[in-house]
Amino acid sequence: MTSASSALDNAKAQLAEAVKTLGYDEGLHDLLASPRREMAVSIPLRRDSGEVEVLHGYRVQHNFSRGPAKGGLRFSPNVDLDEVRALAVWMTWKCALVDVPYGGAKGGITIDPREYSQGELERVTRRYTTEILPIIGPDKDIPAPDVGTDENTMAWMMDTFSVAQGHTVPGVVTGKPISLGGSLGRAEATSRGVTHIALAALAYKGIDPANATAVVQGFGKVGAGVVQFLAEAGVTVVAVADQYGAVRNDEGLDYDALAAHVAETGKVVGFAGAEPIDAGQMLTLDVDLLVPAAVEGVLTAENAADVKASIVVEGANGPTTEEADRILNDAHVLVVPDILANAGGVIVSYFEWVQANQAYRWTRKEVDDRLEQRMRAAWEDVVATSEQHGLTLRAAATVTAVERVAEAHQIRGLYP
Ligand code: GLU
Repeated sequence: MTSASSALDNAKAQLAEAVKTLGYDEGLHDLLASPRREMAVSIPLRRDSGEVEVLHGYRVQHNFSRGPAKGGLRFSPNVDLDEVRALAVWMTWKCALVDVPYGGAKGGITIDPREYSQGELERVTRRYTTEILPIIGPDKDIPAPDVGTDENTMAWMMDTFSVAQGHTVPGVVTGKPISLGGSLGRAEATSRGVTHIALAALAYKGIDPANATAVVQGFGKVGAGVVQFLAEAGVTVVAVADQYGAVRNDEGLDYDALAAHVAETGKVVGFAGAEPIDAGQMLTLDVDLLVPAAVEGVLTAENAADVKASIVVEGANGPTTEEADRILNDAHVLVVPDILANAGGVIVSYFEWVQANQAYRWTRKEVDDRLEQRMRAAWEDVVATSEQHGLTLRAAATVTAVERVAEAHQIRGLYP
C-alpha cells in the first residue's frame, strides 16, 4: 500500500487533468482543489481498563456548491488528515457525477477498531460527534459508514446529535439501522452498484457474464456483496482476499459457504472450499474482471503491468495510483473509476436522507430500482463523454463531475 499522502496526490492529479481539459483558470482550479472547512479534534477516551488514551479525528468538508457536504466516517490506523482530504475530494466528484444534491466530505479517526471493545468504540464515536457537532447536521454535512464503521456507529452519532438538539434528527447521518429510519437496501447498496457497473462494463467489452471470471479484493461491507451479486449474475468469482490473506478456487467460490466461514472465523483463509493463495499474486490472476474493494493504493507502479484482467472496477476509493492508472490505460485495460463504480452507497444514502425528510419509508424494490437507474444513467453519461472526447473513463467521470461543481459555483457567484 502506498502512503496516505499519495491518495491526496492522486486526487490532485485527477483534478489538474480535468481542469486542463475544461480550460479553467488557476483561480477556479485553486478553489476546486481547496477544502472549504477542516476540523481536527482530540478524542480523550477512557479505556475499559480505566486508563485514558487520546485519539485523533478529522472532518474535512471539501465542497458545498451543490448542497450539504456528504461522506463517510472511517476508523482505521492509517487515517491522517491528508487521507481524509483526498477521500473528501472524491466524495464531491462522486456526488456530482451521480447527480445527488450534495457536496463532499469525509471523516476519520486514527484507530484500529478491532483493538477496542464496543463500549470503547461507542465512547469514541460519541465524543468525536460532540466535537464536530457544530459543523454537521442534515442541511450541513451528513456522515455515513466507511471502512471500520457500521450502522451502530451511525446510531450512536444520531443519538448524540439528537440529544444535543433536544429532539430526534434522523437526517443527520445515513447508513442507520432500519429501526432508526435506515433505508432498506442501504447496507448492500455499494455492492449492488459495483455489480451493475461491472455487468455494464462486461457488456461494453462484449463479454457474457456466464463466461466471465472475476477476482475481488476485500470481503467487507463492499467486497462480500460484490462476490455474492456477481455470482448471482452468473460470473465465476475465482479468488477473494481480505486483510489477512486470499483464497482461490477456479471452479468458482461458493458465496454462502465462504460467508458462513468468515462469519465464524473472521477471515477468508482457512475456507475449506478453496486453496490459499498469495494476496498480491491474486491481483494478477488471468481473469476478465478485477474488483479492488478494500482500500486505496493497491494497484501501483510495481504491480499494474502484471494485471491480466481486461476490466478493473474500483469498488474501493482510490485503489489505483496515478502511475498504475497510466500503465493500465496503456495496456488497454478498461478501468472503471471509483467515483462511478462505488457510488451506489451514497446514492442510497441520498434516498435514506430523502426518506428521513419525507418521514416516509420506500419499499426495497423502489430503492433497488432507483439505484439501478441512477447507476446506469451515470455509466451512460461517462461512456458518452469518454467516446465523444477520447478520454479514459476516469478522465470522463472526473471532467463530468468537476464541470457540474464548477457550474454550480459559477451560477451562485463568489460572495462577497
Ligand atoms: N463511505 C461511502 C463512500 O465512500 C458512502 C458515503 C455516504 O454514503 O455518504 O462513498
